[in-house]
Amino acid sequence: MTEQQGVDRYEDIRAVEAMDPEARWKYFEELIRPCIRCYACRNACPLCYCPTCFVDESRPQWVGKSLDPTDVRTFHFLRAFHCAGRCTDCGACERACPVGIKVRQFTKKLEKEILDLYHFEAGVVPEGRPPLDVFLPDDPDNFIK
Ligand code: SF4
Ligand code: SF4
Ligand code: SF4
Repeated sequence: MTEQQGVDRYEDIRAVEAMDPEARWKYFEELIRPCIRCYACRNACPLCYCPTCFVDESRPQWVGKSLDPTDVRTFHFLRAFHCAGRCTDCGACERACPVGIKVRQFTKKLEKEILDLYHFEAGVVPEGRPPLDVFLPDDPDNFIK
C-alpha cells in the first residue's frame, strides 16, 4: 500500500488553532464533557505502559478520582503531554473511547508541534530517541541547566 500524498492531516488542528482562547476553551470543555474516565483511551495506547499511571497513584495523588471537571481536564491534559514526542497518531485511543470523544485533538496538536519544532515524527524515524526523551549537556538553552 502506498502512502497517501497531498493530505493536510492537520486540517482539524489548524481550525482549533484559529479559535480565540475563549472559543478554544469552550471547544475542549465540550469535547471532554461526555468523558466517564473509563481510561479505555489510556489502556489502548501503545505508549501508556507505565507500571502505575499517574491517575492510579495515591501517594501522592496527582489527580482526583471524580468526574469533577478539573479532574477530567487534568487527566486529559497530563496524558496528552506524556505522549508528546512519542505519539504516532495511530488513533487507538480514539477508537477505544466508548463515548466517541476525539481524544486525538489533544495529542495530535502536540504531535504537530513536535514535527514543527524538532522535525521528528514518532514511529517514522527508526533511529534515535524522541526529542523530549534526551538531555544534552551542551544544550544551547539555559533554562535546562
Ligand atoms: S476512553 Fe473516552 S470516556 Fe474513557 S477516559 Fe478516555 S476519553 Fe474518557
Ligand atoms: S497517561 Fe502517562 S502515566 Fe499514565 S500510562 Fe500513559 S504515559 Fe504513563
Ligand atoms: S494516537 Fe497517540 S495517544 Fe492515541 S493511542 Fe496512538 S500513540 Fe497513543
